[in-house]
Amino acid sequence: MISLQDVTKQYPDGTVAVHDLTLEIDEGVICALVGPSGCGKTTTMRMINRLIEPTSGTIKVDGEDIKGLDVQQLRRRIGYVIQAAGLFPHYTVRRNVATVCRLLGWDKAKVASRVDEMLELVDLDPGKFGDRYPHQLSGGQQQRVGVARALAADPPVLLMDEPFGAVDPIARERLQDEFLALHARVRKTVVLVTHDIDEAVKLGDRIAVMRQGGYLEQFDRPAAVLGFPTSDFVADFVGSDRAVKRLRVSPIDVSALAETVPGGEGVLEVAADATLYDLLAAVLQSPVSTARVTPGGQAVRLGDIDALLRAAQA
Ligand code: ADP
Repeated sequence: MISLQDVTKQYPDGTVAVHDLTLEIDEGVICALVGPSGCGKTTTMRMINRLIEPTSGTIKVDGEDIKGLDVQQLRRRIGYVIQAAGLFPHYTVRRNVATVCRLLGWDKAKVASRVDEMLELVDLDPGKFGDRYPHQLSGGQQQRVGVARALAADPPVLLMDEPFGAVDPIARERLQDEFLALHARVRKTVVLVTHDIDEAVKLGDRIAVMRQGGYLEQFDRPAAVLGFPTSDFVADFVGSDRAVKRLRVSPIDVSALAETVPGGEGVLEVAADATLYDLLAAVLQSPVSTARVTPGGQAVRLGDIDALLRAAQA
């Protein structure tokens, strides 16, 4: 859906922000661009909707070279969510969400029903919030309005620039969970910029780790980046606790675990689609150090931590 081929961006002062970057992002995938401040993440993302023009290289969206497209037309196919939502302060919530639909010339009734649908999608009651102004919302609510606005015209691509950076950690966790649930319903191709490796691991189907000078260090699934960093830079960036982080993205391989046991006092239950991290938490919390995973009614025993370690190492 999005392809960057040998893309370089050098600013007029000589700074090379992005260096010969090649990246292919499949349809429906969430790709997290992650790396330290100044490594070229934002520049990369903004070249996709032509807020910034590359110095050289080719960018295609849905197979079309974006250089040949009208900029406005391109941007209507690409939703854009920025930090602190970037809502128009003098517009109501409804009007904010309606922005792109109005630009596209939709009739009033269609816009109104679409706005309600979008607000419900992001879990905001249109009757309660629709006529408020942005300053009458919490940071998290503003962010949800920003997402509703970006999705209103049903663009196939969504760009998100540090979308959850301006909200407190608890609200951020919730917004991230909500975003994943939303993405499961409306499968857009998403490019997400974040400096936070935990956010990248949680949200990304793919992670692109960049380093100063606009170099792409590694592009892979989160479990691969955490389990097999391809350079010292990546290993350092993802952190010395990467083995623990990796548990969060490792599904439970039931066949690798120990024998079947019935439930019992102190045995905690873990859902079959949970991760090794959830399993670890349950084993640590259980007074008998045992958790049951119950895929299709089967129970799996974890008498000690050894089985978990074997599963994590596998
Ligand atoms: P990130 O999003 O990873 O923090 P950016 O893409 O914003 O990084 O910036 C990459 C590099 O390009 C940085 O060194 C930054 O200082 C530089 N840069 C960004 N915008 C400009 C500009 N308009 N002119 C010159 N240099 C810029």
